[in-house]
Amino acid sequence: MPKITNARVIVTCPGRNFVTLKIETDSGVHGVGDATLNGRELAVTSYLEDHVIPCLIGRDAHRIEDTWQFLYRGAYWRRGPVTMAAIAAVDVALWDIKAKVAGLPLYQLLGGASRRGCMVYGHANGDTIEETLREARRYMDLGYRAVRLQSGVPGLKSTYGVSKDKDFYEPADADLPTENRWSTESYLRSTPELFAAARKHLGWDIHLLHDVHHRLTPIEAARLAKDLEPYRLFWLEDAVTAENQTNFRLIRGHSTTPLAVGEVFNTIWDCKQLIEEQLIDYIRATVLHAGGITHLRRIAALAELYKVRTGCHGATDLSPITMAAALHLGLAIPNFGIQEYMRHTADTDAVFPHNYRFADGYLHPGDAPGLGVDIDESLAQKFPYKRAYLPVNRLEDGTLHDS
Ligand SMILES: [Mg+2]
Repeated sequence: MPKITNARVIVTCPGRNFVTLKIETDSGVHGVGDATLNGRELAVTSYLEDHVIPCLIGRDAHRIEDTWQFLYRGAYWRRGPVTMAAIAAVDVALWDIKAKVAGLPLYQLLGGASRRGCMVYGHANGDTIEETLREARRYMDLGYRAVRLQSGVPGLKSTYGVSKDKDFYEPADADLPTENRWSTESYLRSTPELFAAARKHLGWDIHLLHDVHHRLTPIEAARLAKDLEPYRLFWLEDAVTAENQTNFRLIRGHSTTPLAVGEVFNTIWDCKQLIEEQLIDYIRATVLHAGGITHLRRIAALAELYKVRTGCHGATDLSPITMAAALHLGLAIPNFGIQEYMRHTADTDAVFPHNYRFADGYLHPGDAPGLGVDIDESLAQKFPYKRAYLPVNRLEDGTLHDS
């Protein structure tokens, strides 16, 4: 059995910060895991280096479940994004090692392919409705079957989720948090107009998605979900914050627009009630922030019982390692729904050479043994860590708002 002989954390910033765990074994096989926590990267680095890695040396790399339980239960302090991102990095690296030793792409160890590929959605953003629809058309021409539409809100200088660069979106772009302005009233008026125009000009053969970024109260979200019903969205995402899972009951009671949430969730406990009460249709927890393949697989299995499908968060703050892991899991599980796909910069792609490929609206993880992704350590060294924060959000009277 391969024994873990060394593990180290590599922090690199090829356009944005990424934290990578590399685990080496005495058999010469190594594995990689993503530990990036957007805006809080060095907290996970410390958790790994100071608390997790010392426990890994000498362990049997094949004992993935036992290592997961050891790190989760053994720490006494459970859950939380820092802890769960660190556990996920270890878990994914160990799955990578196991699949490489087996000589199989990881999805084969998870039960084999359940589909030809994972349907993905791209991001069409614009300051105006016309610009957003032009971008959506560009994605459709590339073969995408699903597009998320976000448009500027009239009267606001900038809107979170609407990028300046059309190909690469990076909200954590400032040395200290930027402050954005927000108007719920204006947003609730303009969003149904965006989707009315989208159906008129893009037709009905494209899945349309929208992200609220947790900005609404339950009753406001219910109104938006109802107003958007005629346009048959694939999903309405993050309609409200989900610390209080019962927030979703109110929206559910008023609308049949499908709901998605969970990109900030860390464990199965964050989504248990949402899934069991069938308050959502898609669970967006990630391999990276929800404890790795071992734990996300458990969440997906619970979701399957209630006809909830996966729709994993896939923004650029997740490295290609997480994208690969999500695709292996998504290819294998019965209740895969859709995968978010934002392209990384060329520098990021070079630091993380990978095998997954886009064709005809689908991503496939490839058939190389393991995850099919690695880190070029010498290239990574050329991009040192740069502090960067996500923006905060204030109402027009200055009140700090959800973001
Ligand atoms: Mg979101």
